[in-house]
Amino acid sequence: MVPYSVFLLVSGLLFTLAERLWPRSPQPVNRKGYGLDIVYAVFNAEVVGSLVAIWLGGLYAGTRFLEWREPLGLNTLAAMPGWVQILALLTVKDFLQWGIHNMLHRVPALWEFHKTHHSTEVMDWLSNWRFHWFEIVVYQAILYLPANLLGFSAPVTFGCAVVSTTIGHFAHANLRWHIGPLKYIVNSPEMHVWHHVHPEAGPVNRNFAISIALWDWLFHTAYAPADPPARIGI
Ligand SMILES: [Zn+2]
Ligand SMILES: [Zn+2]
Repeated sequence: MVPYSVFLLVSGLLFTLAERLWPRSPQPVNRKGYGLDIVYAVFNAEVVGSLVAIWLGGLYAGTRFLEWREPLGLNTLAAMPGWVQILALLTVKDFLQWGIHNMLHRVPALWEFHKTHHSTEVMDWLSNWRFHWFEIVVYQAILYLPANLLGFSAPVTFGCAVVSTTIGHFAHANLRWHIGPLKYIVNSPEMHVWHHVHPEAGPVNRNFAISIALWDWLFHTAYAPADPPARIGI
């Protein structure tokens, strides 16, 4: 878990610096809810994330996934180069997460958990970490299920978590960057800020992407006007 903590610190510093250089809207580092979001980041990333990883690791180790791999032909990917495995795992888990995120918005009982994430009124990279701890249980379970079933190694699962978290920081960052045609593939600040739009300031239930924006374009939930919304929150 130490390498992940170091990555979080470095990523956080780099995005804080980028937000000073290319801000979408002028706001101080210590913006509204900053202290609260640091508590969320430490609790969700360090405490709950570690506990759930240990718990799920033990849970999956006790299953018979390993025996299914060969008869089902699921061990082919694990023999491929590391970056191919990371990309494959990211794609599978991100598509599952896109579906779950959709339900978090559309099922009232699930929205009760997810609305914590949407309570943010001033957004930056740290807002990525404001969410109910139960979402970690759900999302991590989704990451470790294909990882175990397809036989990915721990470094591949770690690499996938690093890529996914970096895109999460990027998508929430207070950056005025536009990424051109890449917006059809990678989640970005210009799209994710519209996911957080206040119901009185624009259409809700758009841009459910976690890392890969393609799902929203494919399933007609993408919304990407040139300018950010006038207001975010719930
Ligand atoms: Zn959401
Ligand atoms: Zn968000």
